[in-house]
Amino acid sequence: MPAPSDRDAAPSQRGGVPSAPANAAHWDEHFSAFCAAFGGAVALRREEPLAAKTTLRVGGAARIYAEPASVDELQVLVRAAQTRGVPILMLGRGSNVVVPDEGVDALVVALTHEAWARFEPRADGSVQVGAGLRLKNLCGLAAKAGLAGFEFLEGIPGNIGGALRMNAGAMGGWMFDVVESVQLMSRNGAVTTLAKAAMHVDYRHCAELHDAIALGAMLRPAARTEGDAVARQIDVYRKKRQESQPREPSAGCIFKNPPGSSAGRLIDECGLKGERVGDAEVSPVHANFIVNRGRASAADVLELVRRIRARVRQARGVDLQPEVLLFGKNWEDVL
Ligand SMILES: Cc1cc2nc3c(=O)[nH]c(=O)nc-3n(C[C@H](O)[C@H](O)[C@H](O)COP(=O)(O)OP(=O)(O)OC[C@H]3O[C@@H](n4cnc5c(N)ncnc54)[C@H](O)[C@@H]3O)c2cc1C
Repeated sequence: MPAPSDRDAAPSQRGGVPSAPANAAHWDEHFSAFCAAFGGAVALRREEPLAAKTTLRVGGAARIYAEPASVDELQVLVRAAQTRGVPILMLGRGSNVVVPDEGVDALVVALTHEAWARFEPRADGSVQVGAGLRLKNLCGLAAKAGLAGFEFLEGIPGNIGGALRMNAGAMGGWMFDVVESVQLMSRNGAVTTLAKAAMHVDYRHCAELHDAIALGAMLRPAARTEGDAVARQIDVYRKKRQESQPREPSAGCIFKNPPGSSAGRLIDECGLKGERVGDAEVSPVHANFIVNRGRASAADVLELVRRIRARVRQARGVDLQPEVLLFGKNWEDVL
C-alpha cells in the first residue's frame, strides 16, 4: 500500500503554492477583498463553523467559507483566491474528513447550491450529474428512471464531487466504474472535460482531483431495467449497512484496508472495540469506525487514531494508513 504522501497534502502545504497567512488581520483583509470583488454576489462567510457540516461533527471553523451558485461564481472565487495566494479546500458532504480543532486556514468552498445537483439522463443512455448531487439522490433518481448500476453507492453519505475525489467504493464497485468523463476546474479557473481513460485513479484516490475541482461527471449506467429491481437492490444494500455499521456520527472507515487484509479485523483482533479517548470511541459495532459519542474533539479523534495505529503496529506489525482525510493538514504532521 502506498504510504500517505504529498499527494494527500492540502494545497497550502504542497510545494509551489503560497502558504496562507495565519493571523486574523490577514484573513479579514482577504475577506474584505473577496466581498468587494463579488459585490455580495457570492455568499461568503468569515470563521464559518465546519463541525456541523461534517458527519463526524468535530473541528473548528473555515477562515473564509463560500457557497457559489454557478460555474461562473466559482471561477471568480478561484481566480481571486489564486491572485491573493489563498488556498482553496473543497468540502463535499464532509463524510470523509476530520476537521482540526483550530479550523482551516483556507477558503472552504461547498457546492451545496441546488444548481450543482443536476441529474440529467441523455438520449445516448448516459447521465449528466452535478458535483453537488448527493449519492443518495443519485441512487433514488436512477431507480425512478429505471437505470441500474449505481446501487452500490447507496449508503455512502457523500456527494458526486467527494465520491470522485475519493473514488468511493462499496459492495465490490468503485465510483470510477460508472464514470465516462469528469468536468473539472483547475486552480486557475480553466474548465475542461477529462475522459476516464485520461485520469489516474486508484484505491480511494483520483490524482487529477487532488488539485482540480470536480464540477460534474458523465456517468454510464450498467443497464435499463423495468419494474422495481433497482429499488430492491438498493434496499438489500441499505439493510446490509444498517446491520454492519454504527448509527453514531462518524467519518466512515478511518483506515484503508491493507492489501489482502481488513483494517477493521486487525483493530478488532487487538481488542480495541470500545477503546475511548474523551467522547471518541472505536465503535463496538465496526472496529474501523471511530464514532463521536457526543462531545468529541478532533484532538480526541487524533489521539485515538494514534493509539490504534500503535497497538496494531505492535501486535501485528502492520502500519495502518488513514483513509479519512485530515482537512487542510497532513496526517504525517500529527501522527
Ligand atoms: C457512515 C459512513 C459510511 C461510509 N461508507 C463508505 C463506503 O462504503 N465507501 C467509501 O468509499 N466511503 C465511505 N464513506 C466515506 C465517505 O462517505 C466517502 O469517501 C465520500 O465519497 C466522501 O464524499 P463527501 O462529499 O462527503 O466528501 P468530503 O468528505 O467532503 O471530502 C472528501 C475529499 O473530497 C474533496 N472534494 C469534495 N468535493 C470536491 C469537488 N467538488 N472537487 C474536488 N474535490 C472535492 C475534499 O476536498 C476532500 O479532499 C462513509 C462515510 C460514512 C460517514
